[in-house]
Amino acid sequence: MYDIVIIGGGPAGLTAATYARRAGKSVLVIEKDAFGGQITWSPRVENFPGFLSVSGTELGDKLLEQAMAQGAEVELDTVTALRGTTAVCESGAEFEGRAVIIATGARPRPLGVAREEELVGSGVGYCAVCDGAFYKGKPVAVTGGGNSALQDALLLSESCSRVTLIHRRAQFRGEQKLVDALRAKENVDFLLEARITELLGENELTGLRVQHGGEESVLPVEGLFVAVGHQPDLGAFADVLALDAAGYADAAEDCLSPTPGVFVAGDCRRKGVRQLTTAVADGATAALAACAYLDA
Ligand code: NAP
Repeated sequence: MYDIVIIGGGPAGLTAATYARRAGKSVLVIEKDAFGGQITWSPRVENFPGFLSVSGTELGDKLLEQAMAQGAEVELDTVTALRGTTAVCESGAEFEGRAVIIATGARPRPLGVAREEELVGSGVGYCAVCDGAFYKGKPVAVTGGGNSALQDALLLSESCSRVTLIHRRAQFRGEQKLVDALRAKENVDFLLEARITELLGENELTGLRVQHGGEESVLPVEGLFVAVGHQPDLGAFADVLALDAAGYADAAEDCLSPTPGVFVAGDCRRKGVRQLTTAVADGATAALAACAYLDA
């Protein structure tokens, strides 16, 4: 039995762990994949206060190190359901908490083009940091217009022969500083107001059919990195959370869920700005709310 079981070891969950431990609560953080969460996919983070520039993996490691230094326990497992405030895991293990914080973040949204799933790992990918090295010296494309797509294109431009950034609008959602850096690269092309209509190649991706300016053309690439945003994955907790139409936990800034003793933090929560800084802010808020609940 722990005072607080935290589901998700990204910035929100690990910050919650640090705050809860400092309030004297026993804490277990359960992560299904990699501690640090989505940020470990960012090659360079330059907007987290206190760090001029830090790699996502280094920042994730530091958040984990800090939570563990405060005495948080950690477990690698996938939570498949909550029974009251007990986390039921894929391995069969169960971890009982007096309170639970759900901080499961979001996962990459698929582009939604035919054969996308079939070609994952054979040309189609969602993480340039993880898979970019396989495409050294090769032509690739990135699709999306947010910070993830811009950062992926920048990273890939350092090792790939050519990078084509395909975005459905003329304006980017991501930071202008990243757009400017990409514009300065000689091996980066912009294909704006364009849509990928077909993935070409039998067993491996060999190219993309792209609709652009009312015409269709073929872009030969060996890799496509999809960076079209993220979506929450809260299906396992639908019975304890209220979900909005997009599947996010419908909880306000106070991180309270409709279920007493269950709190929700980070990118999986309904919010206007999903950034590292807002995720760690949620972690602190949820931890202190859980502590207040336990001490009441
Ligand atoms: P995002 O900002 O939501 O951008 C998603 C992009 O994908 C948008 O440009 C969108 O186009 C496009 N898109 C969505 N669905 C599409 C579809 N079906 N077909 C084609 N294009 C599609 O997502 P993100 O880049 O993953 O970033 C998520 C959040 O994390 C953001 O707040 C971002 O700032 C943050 N982030 C921060 C850092 C950092 O701090 N270092 C790094 C990466 C990401 P439209 O613009 O037309 O809607």
